[in-house]
Formats: sequence, C-alpha cells, structure tokens
Amino acid sequence: MRFVFFGPPGAGKGTMAARASKEFGLPHISSGELFRQAIRDDSELGRSVKDLIGRGALVPDDLTINLIHQRLSRPDAASGWLLDGFPRTIPQAQALSSIDPEDHVIDLEVADSTVIARLSGRRMCAACGASYHVQYQPPANPGRCDACGSALYVREDDNPASIQKRLDYYREQTAPLVEFYRSRGTLVPVDGEGPAEKVWDDIRTIMKNLLSSVQSR
Ligand code: AMP
Repeated sequence: MRFVFFGPPGAGKGTMAARASKEFGLPHISSGELFRQAIRDDSELGRSVKDLIGRGALVPDDLTINLIHQRLSRPDAASGWLLDGFPRTIPQAQALSSIDPEDHVIDLEVADSTVIARLSGRRMCAACGASYHVQYQPPANPGRCDACGSALYVREDDNPASIQKRLDYYREQTAPLVEFYRSRGTLVPVDGEGPAEKVWDDIRTIMKNLLSSVQSR
C-alpha cells in the first residue's frame, strides 16, 4: 500500500514514517533526506540544491520529481511505500498520480506555534536520519543517537529565518494539496499535536485498519 505522510515542516512526518516503516515493513522515502544525502555525497545534484535548502526554499519541481521517480522505480518500492516530504506542490502531486498513485495521505495537522517549537529544538543523526528534540524527545546520551551512537547535528535550515520561510512556502505552495487530496478521496486527517506516542498510536491504528481492509478483500 502507498502512503504519503503530509503536513507542515515539523509536523512529525519523518518520525512517524520511520516508525510506520519498521512496523509495516514498507520503505520510508524522504525527499529531504535524499537531498541531504546528495549534499553529503557532494554530487552534482547536491551542489545544485545546497543553497536553496539552507535558505528554506523549495527545490524546483523537475529535479524533485525526477529524484522521486528514480527512487520509486527501485525494486523495494514495488509493492508499497511511505513518502515523507513529497509531494509539496500541485505539479508534484499530479506527477505522483501518474507515476504511482497514492492510496492514502496521512495529513498531520499542527499549529504554526508547534512547528516553531519543534524545529527550534530538533537534533538529527547524520548517519541514520533519526530525529530528536532537546526537550520533548532527548537522546539517552546528550548529542548521541540512541539508534546508532553517531553524533547529532542541527539541520542548517532549522534556524529562525529558514523555519519562517519554510512555513510560508508550506502555506502558499503545499497547503493547497489538502483540497487536492480531499477531492481524490485519499486524505486522512490526523491530529499531530501532543506527544509523539499518542500521535503514533493514532496513526498505527489507522494504518492497521486500512491495511487489513485490503487484505480481507
Ligand atoms: P524536509 O526534510 O522534508 O523538511 O526537506 C528539507 C528541504 O528539502 C526542504 O525545505 C526543501 O528545501 C527540500 N525539499 C524536500 N522535499 C521537497 C519537495 N518535495 N519539493 C521541493 N523541495 C523539497
């Protein structure tokens, strides 16, 4: 089954998609993580998107669609996937619907004040992509990833100016996708406020029901 994890930056898409990937055995495909990997590899793609991403701007649709198209063509994505951070524009959503249409869009609803609080304290693991929060979800050993022990870092775009810019882009370019998916009948709104455990319980129940309704057909 094909799930899009949707919502503003800091809604918890990455955290929830990572948990869902473990629980349901579907590949977690994060467009932001694919771009950050390209930057770490210093590839041609990485060099062309580095400044845009640091400023909190969106990468052009053609580059982004191409990257996701290639990733969805890999064998592990043949029987389902969890997309995180893609699509972010109407042209991207239209492209996805012709490449490999989504079954459900988990729409994590959170207020701007929550986004700012979450992103300001976020810490990431460069090695495995796990994400933490200095206050809400601290690692057991400060500055070290619980999962793999690597050093944690602050994302270049988790600074106040870029956070505001990303929220502005979300409202202008990405939020219209809520209507797009509602009219396709694939939107599943989820309350993204509150502790991660509660949000995860809700998502796990929703996904279990959706997956079992297909298996019992
Ligand atoms: P994320 O990790 O999803 O917050 O993405 C980090 C950054 O990567 C975004 O702020 C954008 O600069 C870029 N990016 C990720 N996904 C997309 C997308 N679907 N369209 C355009 N830019 C993207």
